[in-house]
Amino acid sequence: MKAIILGVGNELISGQTVDTNSAYLSRELGRRGIETLRHETVGDETAAIAGALSRAAAEAEIVLVTGGLGPTADDVTRYGLASVMGAELQLDGQCLREIEDFFQRRGKKMVLANRVQAMIPRGAEPMANAAGTAPGIVATLDGAEVFVMPGVPYEMRDMFESSVLPRLPAGDGVIVHHIVHTFGMGESDVGERIEDLMRAEGEVTIGTTVSEGMVSVRIIASAETIEVADRQVDDAVRKIRSRLGEVVVSEGDETMGEVIGKSLKDRRETLATAESCTGGMIGEMITAVPGSSEYYLGGAITYANEVKLQMLGVEKTDLEAHGAVSEQVAAAMARGCRERFGSDWAIGVTGIAGPTGQSPDKPLGLVYIALAGEGTTDVHRHVFGGSREIVRRRAALSALNHLRLAML
Ligand code: ATP
Ligand code: MG
Repeated sequence: MKAIILGVGNELISGQTVDTNSAYLSRELGRRGIETLRHETVGDETAAIAGALSRAAAEAEIVLVTGGLGPTADDVTRYGLASVMGAELQLDGQCLREIEDFFQRRGKKMVLANRVQAMIPRGAEPMANAAGTAPGIVATLDGAEVFVMPGVPYEMRDMFESSVLPRLPAGDGVIVHHIVHTFGMGESDVGERIEDLMRAEGEVTIGTTVSEGMVSVRIIASAETIEVADRQVDDAVRKIRSRLGEVVVSEGDETMGEVIGKSLKDRRETLATAESCTGGMIGEMITAVPGSSEYYLGGAITYANEVKLQMLGVEKTDLEAHGAVSEQVAAAMARGCRERFGSDWAIGVTGIAGPTGQSPDKPLGLVYIALAGEGTTDVHRHVFGGSREIVRRRAALSALNHLRLAML
């Protein structure tokens, strides 16, 4: 069973919007054993949409289309479909009532333009859209099932799950994707430890990817049933975890912030942060997690030297003798922060994010990360490569990783 996914929108081909819909749909199809042959992207143009639809329907059994179903003049996907079907658009009374109801429930007035969203090519069927105004369309074209969904990602996902999935034919087996995230070990080192697993031929494919200093191990399992594929994934995860040990941070969508949050919550401990070169990124990573107020007390962005003195009680003599980017100042920041916020743990970060500010003994990317806990303060020295943005992100992730390791 093969599918082709078609993204429609000028914003996609101009590069203003990244086509995340197609990636999502390919993954979801893959889970059901339906292979995606290719993604195609076209602009908001009737002829281009019609051409892409007719090519896709000739090649694949399933065609998924997203975008261009809205009420404005640039939304022409329905026209493209009608033209390639050789059918005229007709007003679907039931659809129109649903769109009218949608506006009424929200106490808004429906403008005439929204009527066009109830226009469906003759021979095609509407698909309900609980999340927004525009219904989707299902049609048969050249023996292929064509599903047209809205472009807005959450509306698309909603319609895919509630209306497209139940109508999809069963694929040939299933494909399950999984990912294990690590931090603190280089990609080649990770690769070496799981080399035999990566080389093994069979139903499970294992490979590595890197993003912002996080090395992730991707697992793809294909099997007859989801139960068998899930078991293969579990088995691979167990082996990977035993080879890599404590550098494994999380699996799937779980972020470093979530992992830290869980540990702090389990231990009923609290955290505060004193950030210089990361400018609040650590606080951002922690507070991106709902419920973080339970364990995160707050943070100070202490950028100027005077603020490090006043807000954290860093000694002037330390600043003068060692400079702001030093082991001593990082430690004093963490200790001062822990004391003033009254937290169980505190992180202090100071460094040179670049692209200027280095000196003969202090290279660009030099970052000191201090972790103050009950009775101890550990300081870690790092030299990160990369742009200012990358140095800052790596410093923030490393700081959280030191805390993660300290709590293991
Ligand atoms: P609307 O009723 O909102 O007009 P629509 O079906 O016409 O819905 P579009 O106008 O094509 O959808 O897109 C609506 C929004 O969804 C835009 O902000 C667009 O950037 C985003 N979008 C469209 N296609 C994609 C895609 N393939 N991936 C990610 N975002 C997308
Ligand atoms: Mg639109």
